[in-house]
Amino acid sequence: MHHSDSKESNGTPTNSDFTASIVHFDRHMPNANGAVHYPVHPSTQYTYDSVDDLIAVFQGKSKGNSPYSRQGTPTTAVLEAKLASMDNGDGAVAFATGMAAITAIFLTLLKAGDHIVVSQYLFGNTSSLLNTLEDFGIQVSKVDASVVANVSSALLANTKMVFVETVANPGTQVPALKAIGDLCEQKDIVYIVDNTILSAYLFQPKSVKASLVVHSLTKSAAGQGQILGGVVINTGLFDWSNYPNIFDGYRKGDANKWGLMQIRKKGLRDMGATLTSQSAHVISLGLETLALRMQRSSETALKLAQMLQNHPKVASVSYPFLESHSAHQQATDLFKAGSWLFSFELKEEDQCLTFVDKLKVFIKATGLGDTRSLIIPVAHTIYWEMGPTKRKAMKIGDGMLRVSVGLEESQVLIDDLMQALG
Ligand SMILES: *Cc1c(COP(=O)(O)O)cnc(C)c1O
Repeated sequence: MHHSDSKESNGTPTNSDFTASIVHFDRHMPNANGAVHYPVHPSTQYTYDSVDDLIAVFQGKSKGNSPYSRQGTPTTAVLEAKLASMDNGDGAVAFATGMAAITAIFLTLLKAGDHIVVSQYLFGNTSSLLNTLEDFGIQVSKVDASVVANVSSALLANTKMVFVETVANPGTQVPALKAIGDLCEQKDIVYIVDNTILSAYLFQPKSVKASLVVHSLTKSAAGQGQILGGVVINTGLFDWSNYPNIFDGYRKGDANKWGLMQIRKKGLRDMGATLTSQSAHVISLGLETLALRMQRSSETALKLAQMLQNHPKVASVSYPFLESHSAHQQATDLFKAGSWLFSFELKEEDQCLTFVDKLKVFIKATGLGDTRSLIIPVAHTIYWEMGPTKRKAMKIGDGMLRVSVGLEESQVLIDDLMQALG
């Protein structure tokens, strides 16, 4: 069951105080020596004033530091609190990568015999992970989630979760976010939203009743192409008391937190894909410029997408804030801007590789959300392994080019695209 009344806000950033609440967050965390920036804690173990305190931590009766860093450190705890507050959630668990966060959700909350419904336009490695889950006896239905009826007609008696991404990479498809949230609430199904591309600054999945939000922190959040990380945020909207896969040991206290507790205990302590303090620190620094970067790169991406759309040599451009996009209305209603991701195809498909080689500013590389603009032909690279049949099903054309817009001045990027188009 879901709670319809929203919980007490724990410092939810509004549009106007988003950055202020991030850059002042450290002041409200316990911190020795008055350091203005929260320090990095490299220690792998932690001690307590008395042996009773040590025992209390092990028995879950005290909220002291985790005794051993595989379950987190003071530095990762501060990052988790910051990320939870940015998404208006009531808790978060950080992981070494986005894929570790997604894997932890599935492996800790699903069992053989369960069924999940997912968007057919998922991040390639998430899609590949789902194939592994099928081998473990979990049923997966992939649907076009832009229409809620496709999701509802895929639901079975054993459906435990619906999993979607806010903006798909590389095709920029947007699922029927709000309608799926209403459906999951009504059917008492866990609703998981991967918000990597947009970040909490452009969209908060809690507003469409997501139960859990996941981010690869490697992309928008850290934003500088230098660190890997992932996070699962609990929105607090889902009541886990009737969810069958929660171990007895975690059926304690507020039932809205049981799912996240199990993700932390099983996902970090047992599976061990833990974020280091050093990485958490770098991600925390990235968050301080998140709003500035997302504003800037979204503005530039829209300009580039519009320019390309009007160019005679371009066949199509996919960007949610273009009027030509099938989810334009929903995207502009729900999202503050369209992010740094867009894709396009040239009319002469066989020219796409030569075009990329002519670019001087855009860097030929995979990766997303860097400070530099990146471009990659997707069918030949990141989607090569899946083969032509699956690429076709995912609407990935042979000439599709994916762009991750960086922080350069827009004119520099426009000039580069124009000279390469000739
Ligand atoms: C990159 C990405 C991931 C995986 O994140 P890593 O940090 O690279 O493991 C998951 N989902 C989406 C939408 C992504 O773009």
